[in-house]
Amino acid sequence: MLTQNLGYPRIGSQRQLKKACEQYWAGKIDLIELNKVARTIKEQNWQTQLESGIDLIPCNDFSYYDQVLDTSLLLGVIPQRYAPVLSQVKDNNEIDLYFAMARGYQKDGLDITAMEMTKWLDTNYHYIVPEFTANQQFKIFNENIFGEYNSAKQLLGDKAKPVLVGPVSYLLIGKEKEQGFERVDLIRNLVPVYIEIINRLKQQGALWVQLDEPCLALDLSKKEKEAFDYAYRAIANRVSGIKLLVATYFEALLDNTELAVNLPVTALHIDLVRAPEQLDEVLALIPDNLQLSVGVVDGRNVWKNDYEKSLSLINKAVEKLGANRVIIAPSCSLLHSPIDLELETAIDPEIRNWMAFAKQKLTEVSEIRQIAEGNTTLLEANKEAIKSRRSSQKVHKQVVKDRIAAISEADATRNSQFPIRQRLHHERFNFPAFPTTTIGSFPQTDDIRQLRAKFKKGDLTLEQYDQAIEQATIDAIRWQEEIGLDVLVHGEFERNDMVEYFGEQLDGFLFTKNGWVQSYGSRCVKPPVIYGDVSRPENMTVRWSKFAAAQTDKPMKGMLTGPVTILQWSFVRDDQPRETTTNQIAFAIRDEVLALEEGGIGIVQIDEAAIREGLPLRKAKHPHYLNWAVKAFRITASGVQDKTQIHTHMCYSEFNNIIEHIAAMDADVITIETSRSQMELLQAFAHFEYPNEIGPGVYDIHSPRVPTTGEMASLLAKAADLLPARNLWVNPDCGLKTRKWPETKAALENMVAAAKQAREQI
Ligand code: GLN
Ligand code: ZN
Repeated sequence: MLTQNLGYPRIGSQRQLKKACEQYWAGKIDLIELNKVARTIKEQNWQTQLESGIDLIPCNDFSYYDQVLDTSLLLGVIPQRYAPVLSQVKDNNEIDLYFAMARGYQKDGLDITAMEMTKWLDTNYHYIVPEFTANQQFKIFNENIFGEYNSAKQLLGDKAKPVLVGPVSYLLIGKEKEQGFERVDLIRNLVPVYIEIINRLKQQGALWVQLDEPCLALDLSKKEKEAFDYAYRAIANRVSGIKLLVATYFEALLDNTELAVNLPVTALHIDLVRAPEQLDEVLALIPDNLQLSVGVVDGRNVWKNDYEKSLSLINKAVEKLGANRVIIAPSCSLLHSPIDLELETAIDPEIRNWMAFAKQKLTEVSEIRQIAEGNTTLLEANKEAIKSRRSSQKVHKQVVKDRIAAISEADATRNSQFPIRQRLHHERFNFPAFPTTTIGSFPQTDDIRQLRAKFKKGDLTLEQYDQAIEQATIDAIRWQEEIGLDVLVHGEFERNDMVEYFGEQLDGFLFTKNGWVQSYGSRCVKPPVIYGDVSRPENMTVRWSKFAAAQTDKPMKGMLTGPVTILQWSFVRDDQPRETTTNQIAFAIRDEVLALEEGGIGIVQIDEAAIREGLPLRKAKHPHYLNWAVKAFRITASGVQDKTQIHTHMCYSEFNNIIEHIAAMDADVITIETSRSQMELLQAFAHFEYPNEIGPGVYDIHSPRVPTTGEMASLLAKAADLLPARNLWVNPDCGLKTRKWPETKAALENMVAAAKQAREQI
């Protein structure tokens, strides 16, 4: 039985690549230095994989920024606007063009925008979206892949397996940049270039090529299915003597199973962590000579593999196919895992014994093969770890489980319906029309960040730290009063991050020191790990909200992160459904809402920035997800009295197909991001006749630019055309933590002025 890996993290275990790229961008190191860092990481990665005993080791999975952008450069898919950069960059210096595409280019009198970035399927990794035109041409533009294979071959020999984004997925994840064509039709132009690339790799000595086709696991139109069929038949006709592996992941093949197993390739990889149930269907339909790569080790999470579970899947495959047609692998590229658990010396050893990062996952793949071939001692050790996690009191808290088991409809329903609540809120708060507020955070200046760093290092006492945060909070409140905002916030100065801040205070969470995962380019995130039943030992935010409320006569909004967002931005348990974990978090946040209410806070905002990004890849699964996600929000929001006003906030606001679910959240006020779309995103709410109050963002906080009063007033007028004016709030698109004070002040002053104008017009 062979083993393989599909991809390995490339940031380096100490984020060396991030640091080197940022230094290169700042002009502090040259290309030679940057390349040196990259080479060291690649060689270390290959060495690690070699030592783990993996048979097929990926190369060309390294990237300075993003593997999809690499593919665009390889194929010459370079938008026209970069032509001036192209002519300016020196020979062999395509990397500047490459970084210009990723990050925009403002130099030598040029000002060219970056390419768009979006989430890689349902992960938190962001890729650079390929831009296609109607007569898009493809040619081998960049030669990196060939050099990369050569270096890999020197170290790995026949084990080196080049990885490429497959041709159909490459088209499907891109965007048409003009009208009058469908990008999938470009497949006929594209395939010859893939044939050329694969043939060159073969001439260089490659025995395998991996083509990532995650789109094979998505809902496909007839035309898209035909594109797969066409592409792989065309490639098979023109390529021989090299084995092609098509890799799918993140979902089951479902209705695409027949198509996938009949592609004329040597092997197909399927994700049996996300979708173990697909194995039966795949085995039922698999033709005689296709090899099957079974992804049994979770490439997206931090938990030790349950070998018995994996072996039962592998044995099933071996029974049907024979051992020499089965390849053991992680479920997907390990890009989405942190790198090395050995560096985490501070994690409770009992819990650490249940975990595995990328490096450990490779060992798992190799051990599973040894067990499948008869080694029994390895299995025993694994069983012990799995058993210890299953029964540990650190994981299992009966009171938490009991509370979840008893969830009733009443837990998720406000006492009275919205119109009754709205009347009470009017009486209580007496807001003017178009009340103004902000989304929560104010600028996290260097001063604030340094405070936190000093406090963590021990250079500041808790008292000193708290006092400085109190002062920042007071200043922000005075200033909000001066400019005349209606609902104030405390500014979130005490928070490092909207998820981490809560995770650190909830039971059932742990934090790593080096568990970084690439989010985009040089940006990495270090998600918390939810390992056990979640509960809230103490109040989390009440101290700060009460402190802030005491500084002013204006209403002070309490600020919380919602359960789905906390779940979505963490590594989660794999021993219970996501829904169960979310409900546990929901009750913890609900108790915090109640504590705020009891502390005299009359308005509480529960941010659910990530509700939309949690949507499953397949449409058929959307309703189930949305039902439990919305219900979890309602559990957090429904404990309070009618007179308490619940706000929610969501950043990305393309709610077209899910508007009824957003409405079902029944928040008294929802604030969303709409300014960049010129209120276009509000149309879904208008069509639906969204009944509750809503604050469409009038101020784009992603840019330092200060919007004028006139601009914002006209956005408000647009909003008032679409929705009843009495339901509208006035606020920025999102929190202001990434902004600086001067532009924030100027923009919010204009925003308040815009609200006043709007009031005069009704
Ligand atoms: N309350 C958070 C803030 O203002 C919300 C951030 C977000 O939506 N991403 O920063
Ligand atoms: Zn936001």
